[in-house]
Amino acid sequence: MNYIKIVGGPLQTNTYLIYEGEIGIIVDPGAYFDRIDDAIKRIGVNRILYIIATHGHFDHIFYANKLSKNFNVPLMIHELDVNLTRRYSDLAESMYCEVFIPPENIKPISSECAIKLPWDVDMNIIHTPGHTMGSICIAIGNILLTGDTLFKNSIGRVDFDESSEDDMWKSLRKLIELDGDYIVLPGHGEITTMKRELKENPYLKGLWDL
Ligand SMILES: [Zn+2]
Ligand SMILES: [Zn+2]
Repeated sequence: MNYIKIVGGPLQTNTYLIYEGEIGIIVDPGAYFDRIDDAIKRIGVNRILYIIATHGHFDHIFYANKLSKNFNVPLMIHELDVNLTRRYSDLAESMYCEVFIPPENIKPISSECAIKLPWDVDMNIIHTPGHTMGSICIAIGNILLTGDTLFKNSIGRVDFDESSEDDMWKSLRKLIELDGDYIVLPGHGEITTMKRELKENPYLKGLWDL
């Protein structure tokens, strides 16, 4: 299993393509469409199994509708964030300077679960509310996609109406308690590892000591 990071959009969102052979999964399709499309073609992926969003903010789902139509798969997103995909439509359009069509074909995720992949690893959905109520982290093998929950040296904002600071601390604890090391693929910024963040991230250090 391999991954590539595609950066783009007005908020420099990281879109990830996780793939093996000709089969791939798209996570957080908010980087510019052409960049995502080019990457898929360049790598030779011709079947997208899942399009999945770590949460419902527009910069993580902007191209979900177009990609979901192209590949004939729904957008998977936690049920608590489904409404959020429409809430910031005007802001989304003005920031991307493009017409925004919220995802029409949605498959809500209602609980933590393991989704079978045709590879030797499963895709594990971990509910990590805080940045938004329906934020999730996705573990596939030794990679952990953390969306706007955990960044290199930082964590996601908790000052939105849809945020909860209390939940954020609980969710970070959940991530800390995951077994083994993970390569952390965040929704913005540089790729890091869980081991590094446990040592260097000022927000995690406090939790670790408790
Ligand atoms: Zn966000
Ligand atoms: Zn974001």
